[in-house]
Amino acid sequence: MNDIAWPPGPRLWDRALGAYLGLALGDALGATVEFMTPREIAHQFAHQGGVHRHIVGGGWLKLPAGQVTDDTTMCLALGQALLAGDAGGRPCDTRLIADAFVAWWRARPVDCGHTCQRGIVRYLREGTLQGPRNEGDGGNGAAMRNLPVVLATLSDAAAFERVSLAQARITHHQAQSDAATLGLGQLLRRLLAGADTADAAAWAEAWVCEHPAFRFTPYRGRASAYVVDTVQTVLHHFLAHEDFETALVATVNRGEDADTTGALVGMLAGARCGARALPRRWLSRLNRSVVQQITDQAGALLALGMAPQAQAA
Ligand code: MG
Ligand code: MG
Repeated sequence: MNDIAWPPGPRLWDRALGAYLGLALGDALGATVEFMTPREIAHQFAHQGGVHRHIVGGGWLKLPAGQVTDDTTMCLALGQALLAGDAGGRPCDTRLIADAFVAWWRARPVDCGHTCQRGIVRYLREGTLQGPRNEGDGGNGAAMRNLPVVLATLSDAAAFERVSLAQARITHHQAQSDAATLGLGQLLRRLLAGADTADAAAWAEAWVCEHPAFRFTPYRGRASAYVVDTVQTVLHHFLAHEDFETALVATVNRGEDADTTGALVGMLAGARCGARALPRRWLSRLNRSVVQQITDQAGALLALGMAPQAQAA
């Protein structure tokens, strides 16, 4: 099943790499001001006009400049599981994904969200690939890490939905988390196919009619890890700013869950502009190993997603 006309290889590659690197850039930029209020950010960065706009690390995690957090490294773990599954004859195997999350967690990541940790521990103890539906699972952890699934299932819309929900529910089994994971993934699919900002705005308007909790106009200015706040912030800033850098700076200066809102705006805006248009001054600060892993994965996942019958499981 293919609901979208995909552009020729080099353009699709540029958008896919732009999305993945954009996600990491947003994570690295936003982590500096995660959990801060806009007022606190303005005060801390008064020496540069009250605006945080450089990849400098720090923040509550005391990161080196250019280091990413769980938003990016969970994507890398998920992407690796999809590629290993394909190589081992177990395409899109949910248990391989859960095992990859366990390995990621045991490697002591710099950060791990509460709901992600609870889901991983449940899988370790019970072996279950999803918990019961839980209204408390409304964090943004499942939606933030779905990019590799979008790439790996690009030519199969049904596989995209099935694998997105499977990976999401390993840690988050909640209606708004499901809707956000699918919605942001659907928007990313359209951007990879060449949708522009007007196309994206039309899609978002139709989507919030189906999911009114996520309506983002008028924008309420909330950017917490609650997935409704996160998606409202992401859609508002992505659609309000055509330029990648402007969109990311506006997003992360809202504070709160700034690495995750930054990562998701970076993903969407990076797909819109392509890797070649990403700011060099930011890319040059990004951790070299992360850039290499993302570049390798983006190519391999895209090849997987465009191969016939890649998502048979
Ligand atoms: Mg994070
Ligand atoms: Mg975060």
